[in-house]
Amino acid sequence: MALQAQGSKKHPVVENGVYRECVSYSDGELLQKVLDIVKKEKLYGKVDEYKKVVDFRQPEELSKILDLNMCRDGCRTRGEIDEVLERIVRHSVRTQHPHFFNQLYGGIDEVGLAGAWLLEALNTNQHTYEVGPALVVTEFRVVEQLVKLFGWTSGDGIFCSGGSLANMYSIVLARHHLDPDIKKKGLFGRKPLVILTSDQSHYSITKAAFWLGFGLDNVVSVVSDTNGVMTGEAVAEALEKVKKEGKQPFYVNATAGTTVFGAFDELEAIAEICAAEKLWMHVDACWGGATVLSSKHRHLLKGIERADSLAWNPHKMLCAPLPCSVFLVKNE
Ligand code: PLP
Repeated sequence: MALQAQGSKKHPVVENGVYRECVSYSDGELLQKVLDIVKKEKLYGKVDEYKKVVDFRQPEELSKILDLNMCRDGCRTRGEIDEVLERIVRHSVRTQHPHFFNQLYGGIDEVGLAGAWLLEALNTNQHTYEVGPALVVTEFRVVEQLVKLFGWTSGDGIFCSGGSLANMYSIVLARHHLDPDIKKKGLFGRKPLVILTSDQSHYSITKAAFWLGFGLDNVVSVVSDTNGVMTGEAVAEALEKVKKEGKQPFYVNATAGTTVFGAFDELEAIAEICAAEKLWMHVDACWGGATVLSSKHRHLLKGIERADSLAWNPHKMLCAPLPCSVFLVKNE
């Protein structure tokens, strides 16, 4: 059996009761190979627009091409290993391609990719300072600066795995703020608590509402205007209706950059109502939050500084690798 390259590691493998050898890369060479493929295929930064977005195959054919058999023999040559890696790339979607128009991807750049790889290599966690000192301090400092960027003088936050989760955190905090006893006693024996959000908002709000036990009947879908904007007037009207039904509104989600239209709700008018009615105001700025960095478009976020919490996905417009989401809250 020919082993292709010098320095390869040979492993004995039992095949039908007989030992044979398969090959693997030696120390660091596999990582170098991955880097070579990433560079060759331009998987970050600007992609050659004449390349395919994806070499698409139906699932059955693709399973065969990728040879997804746990009991397959090990690779006998390095070429075979390379081919496994290259097939994965060939049949994956290039989300940074200029002709890739699926939802809200922004591509990744070299800085983001390098950071992501370093994190993977560190293979640690941020659950305690002991296991992630540099990362914990970094998160604190970044959150501190983001809080200021969005116009708050103080606040707190956490990076989390996706905007959906960040939106859910906001509902959990709003509920706790309303009545900390709910943590112990649950939602029993009280008026139904109601969440208001626009008919254009992301489905994660509705999903969080039923996951958290509020019930879909207690999510009010506020009708947006012809541009997909939830106006203050529409929120006020919806609130009146909720109150007449004997329910208790406690939370309003406004969206800064809706998923389909890219509409920005009337944050100032909504903030006014939330302050008057003592409702928690959350802004789902997962998509449109990046306008905070633009002198031209920042005005779209006017009023966000009055919100109690917000969610932003730097993985959508900031070339950060997925997932990069931050949840920020005004009250430390
Ligand atoms: N909010 C808005 C407005 C979105 O467009 C999206 C995703 O597209 C989300 C929330 C959810 O973000 P994630 O996919 O990171 O959970």
